[in-house]
Amino acid sequence: MAETYDFLFKFLVIGSAGTGKSCLLHQFIENKFKQDSNHTIGVEFGSRVVNVGGKTVKLQIWDTAGQERFRRETYNSLAAWLTDARTLASPNIVVILCGNKKDLDLEREVTFLEASRFAQENELMFLETSALTGENVEEAFLKCARTILNKIDSGELDPERMGSGIQYGDASLRQLRQPRSAQ
Ligand code: GDP
Ligand code: MG
Repeated sequence: MAETYDFLFKFLVIGSAGTGKSCLLHQFIENKFKQDSNHTIGVEFGSRVVNVGGKTVKLQIWDTAGQERFRRETYNSLAAWLTDARTLASPNIVVILCGNKKDLDLEREVTFLEASRFAQENELMFLETSALTGENVEEAFLKCARTILNKIDSGELDPERMGSGIQYGDASLRQLRQPRSAQ
């Protein structure tokens, strides 16, 4: 049976190497922690259809690769990642910051408060996640999808604009066509 959905949202997972991007994607899609994740080469992607706010949304998630691997440095590189995303994709993209590896409490180098402040100053949503335990992983993706849907509803995001990262699925297209054929 063909998949039907109202919208398709394109998600990009970006950030420094080793922060757990591939594991987050795997946890979200397969509901499993991928212990020995290979290095991502280039770009890989996965997708999952979710229900948010009464709509069926297909999340097409692109996982990117990077080379560098530092510790606290991954947090210090956030501003650069954000600038890249907003200039290369679109200034209007919806961004959620995931402070991953929440389970490694003893090795924490960035406080919740510090990251929250960064998120607030840069107009990002923020959650601490663990691809290992699964904590907040689903919530991170759904929170993002919910925000995008709200912005579509309020007119702040236009799915028809080129490069919006949003497509209508066949379910919404059918609804859009109906009023016209009834005329
Ligand atoms: P990527 O380079 O950002 O895609 O990072 P990976 O997903 O390949 O993960 C890098 C390493 O961190 C791997 O050894 C993972 O097993 C580990 N890892 C990823 N997420 C978590 C997490 O939430 N908790 C813990 N403890 N380890 C994690
Ligand atoms: Mg990876």
